[in-house]
Parts: sequence; C-alpha cells; structure tokens
Amino acid sequence: QRVGYALVGLGHLTLEELLPAFGECKKSKPVALVSGSPEKLQKVSKQYGIKPEHCYSYQDYDKLKDNPEVQAIYIVLPNSMHAEYTIRGAQAGKHILCEKPMANSVQECQAMIDACQKAGRKLMIAYRIQYEANNRMVRELIRSKEYGDVKMIEAFNAQSSANPKHWRHIKALAGGGALPDIGLYCLNTIRFLLGEEPTEVFGYQYSTPGNPLFEEVEEVMSWQMRFANGIIANCATHYNTHESRRYRVLAEKGWMNIESAFAYQGQQIETSHADGKVVRKENLNIMAKNQFATEMDHFSECILENKSPYTPGEEGMQDQRIMEAIYQSAKEGKPVKLPEVTKKDAFR
Ligand code: NAD
Repeated sequence: QRVGYALVGLGHLTLEELLPAFGECKKSKPVALVSGSPEKLQKVSKQYGIKPEHCYSYQDYDKLKDNPEVQAIYIVLPNSMHAEYTIRGAQAGKHILCEKPMANSVQECQAMIDACQKAGRKLMIAYRIQYEANNRMVRELIRSKEYGDVKMIEAFNAQSSANPKHWRHIKALAGGGALPDIGLYCLNTIRFLLGEEPTEVFGYQYSTPGNPLFEEVEEVMSWQMRFANGIIANCATHYNTHESRRYRVLAEKGWMNIESAFAYQGQQIETSHADGKVVRKENLNIMAKNQFATEMDHFSECILENKSPYTPGEEGMQDQRIMEAIYQSAKEGKPVKLPEVTKKDAFR
C-alpha cells in the first residue's frame, strides 16, 4: 500500500531530487502536481504518469480536498509560502510534509502546528539528514559513548550562489540568507546528534557591502551554541565560498568526521581514536540509500500506521526559535539565552 502525494512547486528540488526519489520508495507515490506553469504541469505529469486531471494551479490548490487519491501534500515552495500552503492543505484534509526551514517566524510555525492539530492531520518537516544512514551512525556512536563524552562539535555548510533576483536573496520570501537555507543543517543536525537543546547562542553576521546578492540577506553567519552539559558547538554558514558541507564531533578519546555531511549523497565517515597508546583512523562505509526516499517513506509509514513523525512541526519550530536568537545575538553583539524547552516542544 502506497500513500499518494501531491507535490506543490515544481522547482529544483521537486524536479531534480523528489520526483526521481519516488522510484526508490516502497510506501509513497506521486499522484498530483501543483504549479503556476501549465507547460511544466503537462511535461512533468506525462513524464511521471500523473493523470492530467490531477494537475492543479495555485488558484485551484484547495480543490485537492476533492481528490481522494491524495493523502499527503509535500510543500516545496519558497519559505514564505510554507505556512499558508500548510494551513490550507490541512484544511483540505491532507497530511503535510513541509520543506525546511519550516517558516519565517515562530508565530507562523505555531499556526501551522495548530492548523494540523485542529484538522487532525500529521505534520512533518523534511529534515532529510535525520533519515540519512551515516549521520544516524554518528548519532549512535555518540549515544553509545564509543569515544567517551562529546566535548565539542565544529560544523560548516557553505555554497555559492549567483542570482540576486532568486527568491533566496529576497528577505520577504526567504526569511534570511545562509542561516535558514543551509546553516540550518548545522543547527538541526547537532541537535539531532546530541539529543540536547542549546541554552545560549552567540552569532556574528556579515555581508559584503555593495554585493547585490547580499543587499537583503546575510552572506555569512558564524555562531556558537552552548549546551547545558558544557558542550560547545562552533558553526558557520556561507553563501559565497566553494561548496563545503562537513562536521567533526570531538569526544574525550576520539573524533568523528563526516565529509559531505549535509550533501544529497557522498557522505563519508572518518574516525580517529586512541586505543591505549595507539591512534587509529578508519573509514566506515555504509551503503548509500536515497535520503529523500527514506524520508518520504517514513512519513507514509506514519500515515499508514497512525504514528507520530520523527521530525514533527515542533522540531521545525525549535530551530526557528534558535535562529531568531542567533539573529538577535548578531544584532546586539552579545550572547542570547534560550528558554528551556519542554519535552513536548523538543520531541526527543
Ligand atoms: P526553486 O526556486 O528551485 O523552486 C521553487 C518553486 O516555487 C518554483 O517552481 C517556483 O516557480 C515556485 N514558486 C511559486 N511561487 C513563487 C514565488 N512567489 N516566488 C518564487 N517562486 C515561486 O527552489 P527549491 O530549491 O526547489 O526550494 C524549494 C523549497 O525546498 C525551499 O523551502 C527550500 O529551502 C527547500 N529545499 C530543501 C532542500 C533539501 O535538501 N531538503 C534542498 C533544496 C531546497
């Protein structure tokens, strides 16, 4: 039995990653498309065998309500549109899988959670790294204290972009720059690895004056997160360097490194640990699985078996809360304390 998905927004992620990934799914299938472009709808529906009558414009979005083949909606739109389309989708009676970042404010995140709860529908945020085998293995190594207690984490996610007219460079659409788009991977993955919430953040933000790419959104954010047990995480994200997506977890008796940690594929774990006086290095090879397929099948399983998603709306809201504190810290030039989150908020 497969859950039928409507994909909303036929941009880079939907066309290059999600639609192909359905081929590797066991519990999910694409059954409807929503787009502003009739040409794209015609071409893509033909390619993936989706019925022409299951193609919708944004104006017709609410008509998904009358399509029983659609059980879930996957929202793959610019960040500022996530809240509206989640709320309308839940009101149409569908379960919602929403891309990261969840929304552009904590208030929007809360409204999305409330709408799904009121409609009795499930809400999951598409944090694909939490469904990726190598990152999950690092989490296991941390949990089992294989190398003793973790003391520090360094994380970096960077790429370059060239089009200042793209929505990612317009604050009203993107919500921010490198931080919510790619820095979020450092933040969310560290929370996932440790199963802990930061108690304080300190941010430093910069944009090169005169560069049209960064007139509205930040080019770089560098930040620290402090955890109650003394762990410090040093993180940075950049929109104007060669691609680099890695982290290193430093524990008492070893470290774990993942190259391409946040990439779509190609993760590689390297560890170094002191075994008595001997220091070993090894590469752990894990069979690559498509992260998007694993993530979509997880949500489908939650729908089919009436379970709670591993990365629910509360998870996205907590990241948003932390990002807002990082921006505040960068603005004020001093650390910002975070409110303690209850288990219900943090979902760990
Ligand atoms: P994109 O620009 O390639 O696609 C966005 C789509 O939204 C386009 O088809 C565009 O036509 C449509 N759209 C509808 N209304 C629009 C408007 N008012 N302005 C601009 N576009 C509009 O973007 P993308 O890279 O596919 O990103 C979509 C979402 O997916 C974002 O939230 C992004 O953060 C997320 N994303 C996640 C991952 C991941 O690995 N999980 C990767 C890339 C993007």
